[in-house]
Order: sequence, then structure tokens, then C-alpha cells
Amino acid sequence: MVKEVLKNVFRIEVPLPRNPLKALNSYLIKGKSRSLLVDTGFNWPECKEAQINGLAHLAIDWSEVDFFLTHVHADHSGLIHELGTPESHVYCNQIDWDLLKASMSHNYWEQTKSFLLIHGFPVQDIGDQTVTIIDYISGTDVNCCFVRNEETLTVGGYNFVCIETPGHSPGHMCLYEPEHRFLFSGDHILADISSNITSWNDGNDYLGLYLQSLDRVYALDIKTVLPGHRGIIKDHRQRISELKHHHRIRLQEIKDLLRKSSMTAYEVASYMNWDVSYDSWQELSRYQRWFATGEAIAHLEHLCCRGEAVKDNQGSQVVFSLPL
Ligand SMILES: [Zn+2]
Repeated sequence: MVKEVLKNVFRIEVPLPRNPLKALNSYLIKGKSRSLLVDTGFNWPECKEAQINGLAHLAIDWSEVDFFLTHVHADHSGLIHELGTPESHVYCNQIDWDLLKASMSHNYWEQTKSFLLIHGFPVQDIGDQTVTIIDYISGTDVNCCFVRNEETLTVGGYNFVCIETPGHSPGHMCLYEPEHRFLFSGDHILADISSNITSWNDGNDYLGLYLQSLDRVYALDIKTVLPGHRGIIKDHRQRISELKHHHRIRLQEIKDLLRKSSMTAYEVASYMNWDVSYDSWQELSRYQRWFATGEAIAHLEHLCCRGEAVKDNQGSQVVFSLPL
């Protein structure tokens, strides 16, 4: 469960039961006086147990641990309140920290629901997310230090540079060690799965931002990428080229669908190919359809930004088509 992947850098495998991602890679950078833990896991007993055992194995006291959260998602941030101590500093981008706090409010999920409804999600399937999220996030009442692009954190003999990589989430951040040429990539780059790119209902083109963030990381000199899930990546440029190719194919797939008729993002998502085994769209759980619709919206918004699709309000819904 605990493996030294680089000098003083330990990967703690945090299980994510009942989740297709299977596990989170949390990383502990062991320093002389303070250590840094990158990402935490859900607020679930299985995740907490893995972290407690991991640090016991390394003989590190929790009062000596600071935290770096790559992004808002609960598999990365959910245990922060449980594991943090009064001595801990929690480093995070303010955009995602504000989103994490907002996501614990009923109002946030009401707005998200309205957004999905105008994009065609069936009202009878929408459910109540506010109740669910409390099971994943332990709380946000911690000593948070906001970090921005190019700020540095020194620990374990390393000097890490914070790299803003918006796309997978609005305030996603990677940590880069330029001298030893390695990168904690969070969910920005993963080895054998593509990160979910969705819309955050704020008018930004998140696929466009994601592609720009990929270019930013492509330019870095990196020998080893330590991602938030799955295996270590050795050739980041090849992986980034594959990810960009994946999104190009997705954009073309959507344009081919719009050539047949105008449709809502939910309808577009229902015709797209998804990498899960299913016979019909209706078989997918409402969460799978929710993620798929978010992914479709992000791609459609990007096409609109590039002038390759247009959107119109039809009644209470947004409908996308190809430009005339
Ligand atoms: Zn993740």
C-alpha cells in the first residue's frame, strides 16, 4: 500500500471502493520537520484507514503533516478536515477551495440541477445531490493557504512549483519539481483513462482551458509524472498528444451528430460512445448520464467558442446545431 517512488516521495494507495477509478494515489513527501501529503481520498472509512496505516508505516505524526490539494473533487479533498490538525497548513488554489465550500450548500446543487435541466436532463432522474455530497467530504474548517501559479513549496529537499492547470476543474493545480524533473499531475494527466472534462456553469470554455493547460505541461521538462490515479507516466509528451487526439475525435463525433439534427447536450450525450459496457443509454445510471452530459456540454461549448457550433434557446432548453 505504501511505496517509495522517488527519494523521500511515498505513494499511498487509497482504495476507492464502488468507484470505477478503484484507488487514489496519494503522495507523502517526507521532510525533516514537516511533511506534505498530496490529496486525501473520500471521507470514507476505507480511505481514512489507508492514510492512517500509511503514515504509521512511515512513522510520521499527523501534527507534522501539511497538505496540498490538487483540486476540488472529493476523492482528492474529502478527508482534509478529518486528517488535518491545528498545526497543518492546507495548500490549495482559491478557486477550487471556494467551490469545495460551495458544493456543501443546497443552493450550489440547485443551480447545478437547473443547469442540467436546461441542457435536457430528464427532470424525473435528476435526484438530490446535496444529501449525497456530505458522505464524501469531511468538512472545510481548516487552515487553508491559497497558492497561485509559480509559487513554490519547499519540503523533503525538493522545491515544488505550483502550476495552474484549469480544465478538469476550474482551479486544478499540479506540483512540479524542475531540478528533479517530476510532476504531481492530480487528474490533469492520467495514464490509461482520460480525465472527465465538464462544464462548471460559469460561461468558461473548460475544454479550451484544458487543452491550453496540456500545452503548458507539455512544455515542461519532465522525467516522471505521478498522477492521482492509475500508473506512473514516463513520456508526458506522448500521453498529452494522445489526450489531445482523444478530444479531437470527440469533437468530430459531436459535429457528425449535429449534422443529422439540432439537439440538446443530453441528446448529444445519449448518441456518443462511452467507454463502459452497456446496451442502451437508459441502462446507464443517472450519475453516468450526468457525467456524460457534462462532458458533452464542455465539448459543445468548445465548438461554439471555435465558431463550429451554435446554441439557441428553445423554450426552457438550450439546443445546439451546426452553423448555417
Ligand atoms: Zn480524481
